[in-house]
Amino acid sequence: MSEQSLCVTCQKSNAPLECGVCKSAVCKNCADFLAEDAFQYIDERPVILNGLVYCQSCYLSAIAPEIENYNQILAQAEDVRIFDRSQTKETRLMKRNEKPLQVKNCLDPQEATMKLAYLAALKNFNAIIDVDIKTTKIRDGSYQTSECSGIGFPTNISNTKIERDRKVRGN
Ligand SMILES: [Zn+2]
Ligand SMILES: [Zn+2]
Repeated sequence: MSEQSLCVTCQKSNAPLECGVCKSAVCKNCADFLAEDAFQYIDERPVILNGLVYCQSCYLSAIAPEIENYNQILAQAEDVRIFDRSQTKETRLMKRNEKPLQVKNCLDPQEATMKLAYLAALKNFNAIIDVDIKTTKIRDGSYQTSECSGIGFPTNISNTKIERDRKVRGN
């Protein structure tokens, strides 16, 4: 670009950054930044959430509502009950009518579990059963890393059962 980019918000300063939505130039003072781990548990992020820098108007119109939505579903996801495949005694009578939820390329079992819970919450389920989390080692030259994948069936269990279990667990 030959012309010097002026900030889309203040129109004054030289603007070295670019808004992740409208691609306008934005200066450091006016830019809104997202934390790198924002939206960590969304399995497939909408493209607009992949940027880390936004101008003020895009942040307010496009990103802030997404954050609010995300936090709301995340709160629901934290209440999703997880039963792994060994817990057949508890899950024996639960319905397995739904297609399994799947996540891949997760950092660790905790992230894989939360991503599954987020997917379940997104579809208004309150439990996942037969959860199976796998860690795969990947060799990249001399460097070894691992990634996690997970699968489980979303289902709904009654609130009275959840309450009873909570009391039994003492929290
Ligand atoms: Zn500015
Ligand atoms: Zn923008």
